[in-house]
Amino acid sequence: MSFFDLYAFDLDGTLYRGNEVIPGSIEVIEALIREESSVLYVSNNSSLHVDDYVSKLSRMGFPVEKSWVRSSAIVTAEFLLLEEISTAFVVGEPGLVRTLRDSGIDVINANDDGFVSESDSRADVVVSGICRTRLSYGLLNSAMQQVRQGSRFVATNRDSSFPLENSMLAPGSGATVAFLETCIGQVAELMGKPKPEILSNWLVTASISANRCLVVGDRNDTDIACGIACGAKTALVRTGVDQTSDSATFVIDSLEELLRYRA
Ligand SMILES: [Mg+2]
Repeated sequence: MSFFDLYAFDLDGTLYRGNEVIPGSIEVIEALIREESSVLYVSNNSSLHVDDYVSKLSRMGFPVEKSWVRSSAIVTAEFLLLEEISTAFVVGEPGLVRTLRDSGIDVINANDDGFVSESDSRADVVVSGICRTRLSYGLLNSAMQQVRQGSRFVATNRDSSFPLENSMLAPGSGATVAFLETCIGQVAELMGKPKPEILSNWLVTASISANRCLVVGDRNDTDIACGIACGAKTALVRTGVDQTSDSATFVIDSLEELLRYRA
């Protein structure tokens, strides 16, 4: 494995599981930064605001700056701005609501704390993300009625599950999106990985060529597929969901191999 200008790391299942740091991952990232590589944290988890990511990563011991974080919530906000969408109905967590509000989008069904609820008021778009605290039949019903009345339908991501401590898996955003797609009879517009924009938009801004970038993650259908869609090299690490890959450039047991195989 050669040296890359940019290492784009997935988070859940790649650097940590729940609140448990995967051993060695902090040291590897510190070593890459010492070697003057750039590091990007790229997560499909839309529940956290960029400030929450910075707090969580730094509390765990990872070097991090705000500009190093790319999430499916951030890329969703960028998309809505590009499409000149100004009002949203959210099925998601306060971190997603805050990310959209930062971009000037009016989230019509959340209070000041960012917690969402049912609403009959119309919005331009329904945004469906991971929703653990306020998911209910009534909320999903409201979202369905929005789309039936003409709102666009956007999903931050469709990960079926996400890894927690002790090899546990929890239901992911994809399960909620599947519920809505089933009852609405319409496929959501996807924002996060495997769509390339979460990474490719940043590469353009940073003037880094995709073939100088290595995407590292634990899922073939999101991380590896996104890397391939961007034209980057990819490494599947066997510390999260997937254990084998037919498509990744490299399959590694732990992040330490990123250093060991380097030219
Ligand atoms: Mg992951």
